[in-house]
Amino acid sequence: MKTMSRKSVHNPAVDRRSFLRTALGACAFCPPLGFSLVQLAPSMSESLTKEQRDSMTPSQVIDELKKGNERFRTGKMAPRDYLAEKRSSAAGQYPAAVVLGCVDSRVPAEIVFDAGIGDIFTGRVAGNVINDDMLGSMEFGCAVSGAKLVLVLGHTACGAIKGTIDDVVLGNLTGLLARIKPAIPGAKFDGEKSSKNASYVDAVARTNVVLGLAEIRRRSPVLEDLEKKGSIKIIGAMYDVATGAVEFVG
Ligand SMILES: [Zn+2]
Repeated sequence: MKTMSRKSVHNPAVDRRSFLRTALGACAFCPPLGFSLVQLAPSMSESLTKEQRDSMTPSQVIDELKKGNERFRTGKMAPRDYLAEKRSSAAGQYPAAVVLGCVDSRVPAEIVFDAGIGDIFTGRVAGNVINDDMLGSMEFGCAVSGAKLVLVLGHTACGAIKGTIDDVVLGNLTGLLARIKPAIPGAKFDGEKSSKNASYVDAVARTNVVLGLAEIRRRSPVLEDLEKKGSIKIIGAMYDVATGAVEFVG
């Protein structure tokens, strides 16, 4: 599937480094009038450098994620050389964001944001729930490694949300779903409140994302402090498994 998608892109005007690099083109390279993005081609297969990542603001990272999702959603993904990205990132990584997503096979963050190796940290757990280990991973990504954004990525038609609505009891899943439970009374919804109602399931998923953001700030003074200083942003989003679109929330 990856090969097919890459072969489908033949437009040389597509900026290979468009993910997390558009903003850099304006500052790090300061291209003079008439400078073509194609001129950057020799280095277009490399992962983000520290200088590139550090020169971005949290808002610019969000903008690049939005652009990456737009490329994915419209089938205009940037041509990508994973082996070159592997080589350029082997000596060090400087990802711009930490994404906490669901294990759902339909929501791979790197793909739906058209990002490459070394561009983003990705943590995945059913229902994109917050726990101590995920918080520790976010703190590593931002406070130690220097990422500018924490993104909690929920999605439509989430099985973990449906299971929570249905009060599923099964092994260790029971405890995991308990972390999603607060989203049920928290969701404002008029209509049939059942796992068979897709609109209700998505409303609970969205509430779960918003509560997750509050949970991060409440349980991680490290991240809350970085956010207050403007060093990072903590934001949520919902991915639509039918349309491929990401809508940012909170
Ligand atoms: Zn899910």
